[in-house]
Amino acid sequence: MTNFLVAANPRGGEGHRFAAADPAAVDDAAGRLRAAHRRWAARSVEERSTFLARWRNALDERRGEIVAALIEDTGRALLSEAEVDGALRRIDYWCGAATSVLAERSVGMSATVPSVRFEHRLVPFELVGVVAPWNFPLLLMLIDAVPALAAGCAVLCKPSEHTPRFVEPLMDAVAAEPEIAAVFDCVRGGADTGAAVAGVADAVCFTGSVATGRKVGARAGARLIPAFLELGGKDPLVVLADADVETAAAIALRGSVLATGQACQSIERVYVHETLYAPFVEAIVAAASAVTLNTQQVDRGHLGPFIHPGQADLVEAQLAEAVAGGATLHCGGLQRRNGGAWCAPAVLTGVHHDMRLFAEETFGPVVPVMAFASDDEAVRLANDSEFGLSAAVLGAEEHALAVARRLCAGAVSVNDAGLTTQVGDVEKDSFGVSGVGRSRMGTSGLVRFLRRQALLVQTGPAAPLDAFREVARPRP
Ligand code: NAD
Repeated sequence: MTNFLVAANPRGGEGHRFAAADPAAVDDAAGRLRAAHRRWAARSVEERSTFLARWRNALDERRGEIVAALIEDTGRALLSEAEVDGALRRIDYWCGAATSVLAERSVGMSATVPSVRFEHRLVPFELVGVVAPWNFPLLLMLIDAVPALAAGCAVLCKPSEHTPRFVEPLMDAVAAEPEIAAVFDCVRGGADTGAAVAGVADAVCFTGSVATGRKVGARAGARLIPAFLELGGKDPLVVLADADVETAAAIALRGSVLATGQACQSIERVYVHETLYAPFVEAIVAAASAVTLNTQQVDRGHLGPFIHPGQADLVEAQLAEAVAGGATLHCGGLQRRNGGAWCAPAVLTGVHHDMRLFAEETFGPVVPVMAFASDDEAVRLANDSEFGLSAAVLGAEEHALAVARRLCAGAVSVNDAGLTTQVGDVEKDSFGVSGVGRSRMGTSGLVRFLRRQALLVQTGPAAPLDAFREVARPRP
């Protein structure tokens, strides 16, 4: 019996009902993709890039439909446009970079056995599974799918059940390029469908929460397949004594509230040197109070609604707990209208690390601010978290770099925040519980889908068994 799911409309109103793919449908899709894989992998990287570029143009031709569906999925307009632009840029990037990454030819004579000539081949995984979250539904799916395709893999994607609408126009663009349609597919559904994808793939890319990442990782471990896990964050921003207060407040605000805070690299903790604390709080409260919500019209205002209703409840609970625990809420908070939920940027002081606001991911436009007295204290506070996705430090450049090098995070932006969203060609790993597996950014974003096969040629006489026969020898 078909299982139907309903994705809520983030701006309120009717939800979107769709059929979830069951494990048999996932198996079917995987079988079709595997059957087409050999032909795709046998193509040169230049040929694959040509087909990817044609697919990119097919996506661009349908950008209006894709953006419209993303607006329905996410309740925001400008960022939906930006997502499509970002996805097109990722395809452009890999069409250009894949050739040089795959050009590597490693041949030579072994240093340990001089008669052996070797040659390396890069062998793609047959089927890569991509399980994606709801916060940037298209981009966070294609960010892994595109380099996997460029590497020569077939790809089966499972987008979030909270943002299913963009899949139809996306798959129209896929159908327009049959070579891509043969090796790329999407199955819609919830946790069961995601688990089924992770259960059939030869390597799995997962972007989502730490809790689900643990399950996907455990499943991959049991199957002995690689899992590339991109998980949550609790990014700190440190404002050093030599930072400019107004600039720091502007960066901290943008870094915390952009996309309604629904971004893994959102700033979720702000630490300010005690000499700047009072003017910083004043500046960020003033700037946060001027932020507008798109409650009336989707294309007016700074911030959209929460995409997933459950996220609004979680943010509301964390704010309530902090205030009950003695925090001061200077501005902002939840606004529920017509079935949608928005949040004006919430700036809090009087906070401490025992609050859930510090221990758990918030994923909302919330800015808790604490003061510190020394660099050592700032580093201790910033590193006091099980997460280690990214971080930011603001101040005189050399000073900021010295502090940045002491932070336990996979990427640290200096004199800005969240630069990893813009810089796709620089490798970064996730520290702590924020992820496992090689960087999706930079060269390793593609190399991780290839296994290195060594061809070893004996150019001298092969050793006979007699060479290994035990003979009594004098022992030292
Ligand atoms: P989630 O973990 O709830 O779900 C992610 C995906 O996993 C969804 O498609 C879901 O259907 C699927 N899923 C659920 N259970 C599964 C299972 N047992 N097996 C396989 N798949 C399963 O995450 P979310 O709420 O959609 O996304 C928000 C989270 O994603 C946040 O924690 C955020 O920090 C994280 N995130 C991380 C990055 C990054 O690059 N590190 C980027 C964006 C979002």
